[in-house]
Amino acid sequence: MAKADASKLDWNNLGFEYMDLPYRYTAHWKDGEWQEGGLTEDSTLHISEASPVLHYGQSAFEGMKAYRTPDNHIQLFRPDQNAARFKRSCERLLMPVFPEDKFVDAVKQVAKANADFVPPYGNGGTLYIRPLIIGTGGVIGVHQAPEYIFTIFAMPVGNYFKGGLTPVNFTTSAYDRAAHKGTGQAKVGGNYAASLLPAENAHENGFADCVYLDPVEHKYIEEVGSANFFGITKDGVFKTPKSPSILPSVTKYSLLWLAKNRLGLGASEERIDVNDLDQFAEAGACGTAAVISPLGGLEHNGKLHVFYSETEVGPVTKKLYDTLTGIQFGTVEAPEGWVQRVE
Ligand SMILES: *Cc1c(COP(=O)(O)O)cnc(C)c1O
Repeated sequence: MAKADASKLDWNNLGFEYMDLPYRYTAHWKDGEWQEGGLTEDSTLHISEASPVLHYGQSAFEGMKAYRTPDNHIQLFRPDQNAARFKRSCERLLMPVFPEDKFVDAVKQVAKANADFVPPYGNGGTLYIRPLIIGTGGVIGVHQAPEYIFTIFAMPVGNYFKGGLTPVNFTTSAYDRAAHKGTGQAKVGGNYAASLLPAENAHENGFADCVYLDPVEHKYIEEVGSANFFGITKDGVFKTPKSPSILPSVTKYSLLWLAKNRLGLGASEERIDVNDLDQFAEAGACGTAAVISPLGGLEHNGKLHVFYSETEVGPVTKKLYDTLTGIQFGTVEAPEGWVQRVE
């Protein structure tokens, strides 16, 4: 695959596609310790056919973005939160932890080295950054890997959902995403392989993706595809589901805080019954990749429940979006410690 060329990119029409950028950060774990890591131009991994990641899914990842500000700096949004979650994901799969401060430093190195690929301010484009750890080395039994590769690569992206803040419809899935005491809280590879079929079924029926319900009663909302759910109640409370099998979204916790402290809304993490959607005036899905995607309608048991509108974003969702993206791009004052400058 040819290396990407920043001078040939159409910044206004970026999708969400892999690009082979000039630099990535790579570090190897060997003989019980991390070897000195650094930037490399090699985008190909050469690993044993018996690597545990290939057979048993010993892998974890993160998703974050670098933002170009109007005064032409590059900044990260709460990278310490991704470092902390990455640590928890690694611990859950018995993988060595890459030190959190070094994780943030390596992310900055990647953003800086590929600065030409951080889209200009103004069109919503960002540099999507993907930290990844995989278990490698030759073991065929179900064991933790003897070696690991930690890598961080990046690519410029536009809006995840092409329509931007246009509502999309979802349907509930009969499949479970994760068990309460399983790996739902960890950003580990296997969770996403398991989501391909439910997502495909939703697409076939004309929906953007599926909403997962809790794995015990199939009654409470868990996630919207690979994003977290939130709803704005008719009496002004930002509500998001509480469950041990949800991936704790940095975006979601940021919105929860902003709803309360910047928009003056109530804010609550609690179980949300899929049969009690009438309480909401608006609803949306949130995550780093999609930022906020308004939920038009949710189909459950053959009935489509429309939240605010199938064609327009609601006013509170819009305000949350503007506040969050304003902070990320540096045009709205950030809460203490939320943004870190790269250059
Ligand atoms: C990554 C992810 C999210 C969003 O998390 P952010 O930290 O906001 O990017 C939500 N749900 C799932 C299943 C995810 O993998």
